[in-house]
Amino acid sequence: METLTGEVTAWLKANGASLVGIASVERFDGAPKGHHPRDFLHEARSVVTFGVALLQQALYWEGHLANSELVPPEHQKEVLQNYFYRQTGYVMVNNLLDTMALRISNLLESRGYLSLFFPATYGTKAIWGFIKERIPSKSGLFSQRHAAVKAGLGEFGLNNMVVTPEYGPRIRFNSVITEAELTPNPLIGEKVCLGEGCSICLENCPGAISLRPDFDPGAVWYDTPAQTDLDACIRLSGAHYCLGRCIKVCPVAQKSSRCKRALP
Ligand code: SF4
Ligand code: SF4
Repeated sequence: METLTGEVTAWLKANGASLVGIASVERFDGAPKGHHPRDFLHEARSVVTFGVALLQQALYWEGHLANSELVPPEHQKEVLQNYFYRQTGYVMVNNLLDTMALRISNLLESRGYLSLFFPATYGTKAIWGFIKERIPSKSGLFSQRHAAVKAGLGEFGLNNMVVTPEYGPRIRFNSVITEAELTPNPLIGEKVCLGEGCSICLENCPGAISLRPDFDPGAVWYDTPAQTDLDACIRLSGAHYCLGRCIKVCPVAQKSSRCKRALP
């Protein structure tokens, strides 16, 4: 168990993962009906979750084209958000996550352990159109954010994302569900999100995130204290050019001096 855990972790880190964590499937008890790892793989024993961190300069794109003689000023925001950020901070990161998930699943299957993964995101407009007509909630088939928390990689934040000590919420995840019994990581033991006293993510969102009425402000949030209206997010992020703003402004593990408030 230790040897295979070490091999899987080392492979993922050598092939692009910024963080790797492992959860036993028992931690998923209470998952929505039909979305427990064992609903997909009957003999599943572990879930391996790994993240790829986002480049700060992919998120802080404002001004990248300020001196451009090629892109007219009226098109700069649109080009930067809908081409530059979408590709470097979303599509390419998700493609890398999916490639790693396929390769580590194949490695585990070559050792005799059935394994599977879901694509990290519904991604392109064509797939999103297909999904939204068939899955009314538009939820993922397997929650990567819950898997990341259960693998000990972070805590849910008020922005409804996973906040990690190393990268804040500026990281995307994918997971492999496997029959292999791997050594789990401990859950995160202390709060990472700075909570309501911070709320910078909420202040900077034009209105797609709301807090759940019943969350415990002092607890470590292993389940999300917030919810995101996806339709509102799509609409508002197009109108306000705020795609990713709810993760880039978070002060946890912040490297950019352009963050609105410094870490306490
Ligand atoms: S992308 Fe924009 S609208 Fe959507 S949750 Fe983040 S800040 Fe809010
Ligand atoms: S911006 Fe503040 S409140 Fe929001 S997720 Fe980050 S630490 Fe938590």
